[in-house]
Amino acid sequence: MWNIWQHSFNIVFVLMIAAVAGMVFGALKALIFLCGVLLWMVFHHLRHMVALERWLRVSDHTAASIPAGSGAWDDVFAHLARYVRQHSQSQERLSSALERMQSATAAMPDGVVILDEVNRIEWCNPVAEQHLGINLELDTGQPIIHLVRQIPFVEYLAARRYSNPLILKQMRQQGLIISLQLVPYGYHQKLLISRDITRFEKIETMRRDFIANVSHELRTPLTVIGGFLETLSSTEEIAPEFNRRALALMTEQATRMQHLIEDLLVLSRLEDEQNKVKEKPVDVANLLSGLLREAESLSAGRHRITLMIDSREMLCGSEEELRSAFGNLISNAIRYTPDQGEISIHWEKRNGQGVFFVQDSGIGIEPEHIPRLTERFYRIDSSRSRETGGTGLGLAIVKHIASRHHARLEITSQVGKGSLFAIWFPEKLMIAGD
Ligand code: ADP
Repeated sequence: MWNIWQHSFNIVFVLMIAAVAGMVFGALKALIFLCGVLLWMVFHHLRHMVALERWLRVSDHTAASIPAGSGAWDDVFAHLARYVRQHSQSQERLSSALERMQSATAAMPDGVVILDEVNRIEWCNPVAEQHLGINLELDTGQPIIHLVRQIPFVEYLAARRYSNPLILKQMRQQGLIISLQLVPYGYHQKLLISRDITRFEKIETMRRDFIANVSHELRTPLTVIGGFLETLSSTEEIAPEFNRRALALMTEQATRMQHLIEDLLVLSRLEDEQNKVKEKPVDVANLLSGLLREAESLSAGRHRITLMIDSREMLCGSEEELRSAFGNLISNAIRYTPDQGEISIHWEKRNGQGVFFVQDSGIGIEPEHIPRLTERFYRIDSSRSRETGGTGLGLAIVKHIASRHHARLEITSQVGKGSLFAIWFPEKLMIAGD
């Protein structure tokens, strides 16, 4: 170790040699010797300083590239090498921590944007780029309001009341609804957290629509019943004819409400994920023979109804649910087919799959309505649906039952010519019959 003592010893040693040389060779020679030693020392330090200056000038400072030194410089360079090594180790630790942080935030389902004290973007994760239409590379340093320009967001930023989130419909991505929340932290910095709530908002809209629809459906029969009850209770002498008509209409409305409640209960049972399909082999041919009799009684001779069984195969599923799905499609065919029309009910096996279909020669459906028919309460002609005892829930029930059996509902129709409603069951549900 080169230290101050060694340094002092060297100086004393040189001075002693100079003194001895002075005594032996005279003062002039001793002075020349001292000057030579000083020159050598200056040269020695200059050489190391140049080496140090060169090393400082290169951009890639690694411990290995530090020049070798001698004398006091050996110590200096050894210290420098240790410092560079420690620095690069802490640099590595920092960059691996940063990498871990970045991969963790990239895996987050929420978007995160770091904003500085004047709301300029400092950093964001890929989800935030997607939610807010930001490009981290291009937009770092940009004020966030230059990229998210909606007025409610600008007002939210300015109001500085960040306890509640802001719900925003993103214009850049059709249908995307996000919730934004600002969280202040550090020195006037903010975290902007974005969350995709499209699904929740859809469910919320569906819930609101559903309550509005059910209330609307119940209001009409209740108004009819309430009106008659009021008249009956305020009139002393009621004509028997009015009495009979009132009772008939009240019964009709009560039945309508009952059907609605029954269908709602069926739907809620079908939607309950805990309620699994109680599978057992279902004799479809037998089931359809029973439904044919019911259809004939519903039609009361107004239609020609035929049943064509081309397969004796059974189906693995819930008999109760299949009866409800097939029954709904058959009763729709009767209700939307004018008198003297034709209705045929089929059970076949095609390419291994089981297919049940009902074909009618009824009023048909315009193509734009077809994708929406399975929505709850969606009706093309509300008055016809209600007059014929419809609740607007039949096809929603059919669709649920089909999907619980991994089956597909297919609807084809031509206005004025008729419709075909088919349910395609997967091969794995087919069981060879006798
Ligand atoms: P509804 O109780 O109103 O019949 P559904 O869900 O069973 O409710 O049917 C939805 C709508 O689909 C009906 O209102 C009707 O407009 C149309 N629809 C259903 N089946 C047929 C069919 N076989 N022919 C023509 N239109 C039909």
